Amino acid sequence: MMKENNKSCAIVGAGISGIAAAIRMRNKGYAVTVFESNSFPGGKLSTETTMGYRFDMGPSVFTMPEYVDELILLSGKHPRDYINYVPLDPVYKYFFEDGTIIDGFHGKEKYADEIASKTKDIKEDIVRYLNKTEVMYNLTAEVFLHKSLHKLKNFFTKRVVKGLLNFGKIGAFDTMNGMNQKAFKDPKTIQILNRYATYNGSSPYLAPATLNVISHVEIEKGAFYPLGGMYTITSSLVKLAKDIGVTFCFSTSVREILVADKKIKGIRTDRDTLNFDVVISNMDVYNSYSKLLPNAKKPIKLLSQPKSSSGIIFYWGIKNDFKQLGLHNIFFSENYKEEFAAIFSEKKTYHDPTIYVNITSKHTATDAPEGCENWFAFINTPNNSGQDWDQLVKEAKERIILKLNRILNTDIRSLIECEIVFDPRVIESRTSSAFGAIYGNASNNKFSAFLRHPNFSKDIAGLYFCGGSVHPGPSIPLCLLSAKITTDMVK
Ligand SMILES: Cc1cc2nc3c(=O)[nH]c(=O)nc-3n(C[C@H](O)[C@H](O)[C@H](O)COP(=O)(O)OP(=O)(O)OC[C@H]3O[C@@H](n4cnc5c(N)ncnc54)[C@H](O)[C@@H]3O)c2cc1C
Repeated sequence: MMKENNKSCAIVGAGISGIAAAIRMRNKGYAVTVFESNSFPGGKLSTETTMGYRFDMGPSVFTMPEYVDELILLSGKHPRDYINYVPLDPVYKYFFEDGTIIDGFHGKEKYADEIASKTKDIKEDIVRYLNKTEVMYNLTAEVFLHKSLHKLKNFFTKRVVKGLLNFGKIGAFDTMNGMNQKAFKDPKTIQILNRYATYNGSSPYLAPATLNVISHVEIEKGAFYPLGGMYTITSSLVKLAKDIGVTFCFSTSVREILVADKKIKGIRTDRDTLNFDVVISNMDVYNSYSKLLPNAKKPIKLLSQPKSSSGIIFYWGIKNDFKQLGLHNIFFSENYKEEFAAIFSEKKTYHDPTIYVNITSKHTATDAPEGCENWFAFINTPNNSGQDWDQLVKEAKERIILKLNRILNTDIRSLIECEIVFDPRVIESRTSSAFGAIYGNASNNKFSAFLRHPNFSKDIAGLYFCGGSVHPGPSIPLCLLSAKITTDMVK
């Protein structure tokens, strides 16, 4: 039973990190209220249903489920009473234009066997590479994922000192592609491993090789499927939060974070002015400053870092059952370097985009009518700097259909029964992400991790930040860790 402390906390936004922060603050004894602009929780991790098809609108790959369980255990409940998930094997199916199909299996050995059998690379090199990314992960996780990078005392623990002493081994001085090109001969192997840069909206040709740790997380630690779909992560944590006494106010936008004498006073919503002891903003930090803190001193350098990529997503109800597809399918472009140059340098969509197709009905049959599938067809795009998105969406649809028809030898257009479309403008308006960037700041240089906003305000006592736009960065597990780092700081 948690001990009440007679203090109150407002959370701005019911994104996954906001929900996790609410659970943690409630466990500290705060009276917690979450204010959410939308009529539904989850932010990017939300769901829509149309014509018998259910779609997860954002994240589809679930790694490090232990951080979800941790919240449930912390609240004195049993994780399996809230959420169930299964490991995936294979995780991905990779399709190439020359007809090669590679399964991305779980575990170093099986993964390496498959790559070695389909490419010019040999098993020993693949296992050696995956061992190296494991070492890199073990050296960096404590420094970059579990603690604030903005508190000096955090640099003096044994594990962090070990990480810092081995800085040369973590790939900070090479790019992701640089390290992968040195390790492998076959362009297919390199392309598969370079793709992990997109997990935080960056380019493998610019992002530091340190980000190759993502392959360790997915291939060795594993990817999972939450039974019922990704949205059950949101719904189970909202249920947990409510069970322990968190209050949610949906369809309620916070208009201002109120400050007096450099201390938090409370918030102003579109209906009320309310006092709170602590405010945690889960709103994108760029917009937290520009929209909610009109008089605060802005950390200009941090806020002006280049933002991540965004995406165009077609949620299609497909009147067919594609036996050759799995839950996660990638259809690669022929020139990855050009594709990323188009996105990050030219701020354009690419004429031959890499397409990701996610189909949850492969696991949750009720997500689509019988004999049909719910497709989430995604391409990476630049974030929104005023491009003609109506035109770009039209072009993207043509390109996706042409490429999928070619590789799958089918006629997708005639199979589309219903369609929802997201582009960077929709992502921006639905989740208040600055410029519709999906992942906050891009990680396109070796200092990016240090240039994310901290989890606290240096100027305003009682003001904190959590979520994908602040430390340690985007994705479900990092957003859950963000909530942990943030709430651990609240005195
Ligand atoms: C298409 C797509 C694919 C992705 N794929 C993956 C994946 O496979 N795996 C993975 O781990 N991650 C993935 N991600 C990233 C992941 O979804 C995000 O990093 C994470 O969900 C961000 O959560 P957040 O807590 O920062 O808040 P957000 O999801 O950004 O939510 C913020 C919430 O705050 C609310 N809000 C904002 N301002 C206010 C205000 N003033 N008042 C009240 N409410 C407000 C918004 O309405 C929103 O609900 C993907 C994201 C997208 C969009």
